[in-house]
Order: sequence, then C-alpha cells, then structure tokens
Amino acid sequence: MSPIDAPVPPTGGDPLAPRRSGSTDAAVLLSARGIRKSFGSNDVLRGIDFSVRRGEVVTLIGPSGSGKTTVLRSLNGLETPDGGALEFDGGPAIDFSRPVAKAERLAMRDRSAMVFQHHNLFPHMTVIENVIEGPTRVQRVPKAQALASAEALLDRVGLADKRDQYPHQLSGGQQQRVGIVRALALKPDLLLFDEPTSALDPELVGEVLHVIKELADEGWTMVVVTHELQFARQAADEVLFMDGGVIVERGAPGEIFTNPREDRTRRFLDRILRPLD
Ligand code: ADP
Ligand code: MG
Repeated sequence: MSPIDAPVPPTGGDPLAPRRSGSTDAAVLLSARGIRKSFGSNDVLRGIDFSVRRGEVVTLIGPSGSGKTTVLRSLNGLETPDGGALEFDGGPAIDFSRPVAKAERLAMRDRSAMVFQHHNLFPHMTVIENVIEGPTRVQRVPKAQALASAEALLDRVGLADKRDQYPHQLSGGQQQRVGIVRALALKPDLLLFDEPTSALDPELVGEVLHVIKELADEGWTMVVVTHELQFARQAADEVLFMDGGVIVERGAPGEIFTNPREDRTRRFLDRILRPLD
C-alpha cells in the first residue's frame, strides 16, 4: 500500500484549521474571471474562469505548455495578467484591464503561498531558518513566535529532527516537505502547488502527496497542478483540464477521469495513463 492509500484521519485534526466544506454553500474564496496573459505574441492564457470555495481542492491538469504554471503565478502576483479580474474572499475585484496599484498586488500576493516544482530552499540556511525567513522578514512576525510556529509545523510533517540541517543533507522528499512547511508558515488563505512531486524520484512521491492529502483533509483550500491522477481522484473536489490557454473541461474527478466529455481531455488522459502506446 502506498502512503497515499493509507487511511486518513477524519476531518478536523487541528481544530484551528479551516473546516473542509465539500459543500456548495461554503463561501467563495477566490474567483478568477476572464484571465488573459500574453508573452509577446504568445497568447498563453486566453480567458480563464474558475472559482475556489473555502476548503475546496481544485486540481489543474493539462499538457506541458498549456498555461498551468502561468495560472498559478497569476494568482500569486508573480505574473500580472493582461486582462480579466481576480476577487479574493468577496473583496473588491482586482481588474487587470487597467493598471494595478502596487498595494493591490501586494495584498493579493499575501493571500496565497506557492510550493514549487523544485523546492527553492535557500542552500545556505538551515531548515528552520528557511521556514522563518518569510514570516520574520516579509510579515514582520517576532522571531520567537515564528520559531515556535515553524517547529510545530515541522513536527507535523515529521521533520522536527531536521530543524538544524541544511537542505543538501535532506532527501528530495524531505526538502519538498520543508517547502510545504515554508508555505504553511505564511498562514495563507490559499495554497498553490505547481507539480510538487514531478522533480522527485518515484519512491519519494508518496510521502509528499500524503502530506498534501492530509492538509486537504484538514480543510486547507488549495489549487494543485499535478499529473498524479490517483492523488487528484482522491483529494480533488474539482478537476480543471487546460489545453492551449483555456479550460477545456471541468468536473468532479470521477466524471473527468472515467467519462471525459471532450476529445482533447480523453487524448491527454490516454497519453498519461498509457505513455508507451
Ligand atoms: P505549463 O505549466 O502548463 O507547462 P506554462 O504556464 O509554464 O505552461 O507556459 C505556457 C506558455 O507560456 C509556454 O509556451 C511558455 O513557454 C510560455 N511562458 C511561460 N512563462 C513565460 C515567460 N516568463 N516568458 C515568455 N514565455 C513564457
Ligand atoms: Mg508548469
């Protein structure tokens, strides 16, 4: 049994964690409407619409180059869309058809935290230093408080004993779990994962997916770009299939994976399920 198959505890391990809703009456945390982005003449996002409710897990799948990373980077303020609007938590919409004020961009950036394909840890800092960097330097959290919170989070992902090690002393799976803790330490409303296991050796994938699945069960709201269909099937409330800068098809994982409506979705799933055909 792989770790992701292991039974998971019932919802609500941490009473302070947001509750996993699973219901359609939970508040919309993020709404993206008509997001467009071009790089030169390359129209990478051609009108992306979706919303994420509090406690929901949305997975984004699609071929390489379809625009998945650009969607996440646009949500996190790392890219500025050329058009469309984003709305967080029912607040005022950020309208990208006009110049966006710096304050708006910074406020948007603080809403989410991203876990990258490569962990992006600072090599010259220990694990704990990496984790408290964002809270202390960017969010001005007092160091003692940031340390206590970082230690609790490391303990939660089974890495308490790696506190004072350097990234190169950890396995790839451990490094990526520190990457997740670093995102959690920012206490974001929304977690964004960009193919968090694609750079890992196969035997290390399970431990990382297991942590992400637990966070989902605890009620974290997340958007996950992944090719791990078994994970998406077990953790996702909704799957969005992207191709050529548009969302071609969306639905519950059970629908999309067993009975896709669109040819393009079917061809993509066939390719990743039977890559040697
Ligand atoms: P995916 O994550 O689905 O593989 P990306 O969002 O990374 O897709 O990229 C979509 C397209 O946008 C690709 O053609 C890529 O080359 C292009 N692209 C992404 N980022 C940049 C950038 N900073 N400058 C120019 N082109 C980019
Ligand atoms: Mg990508």
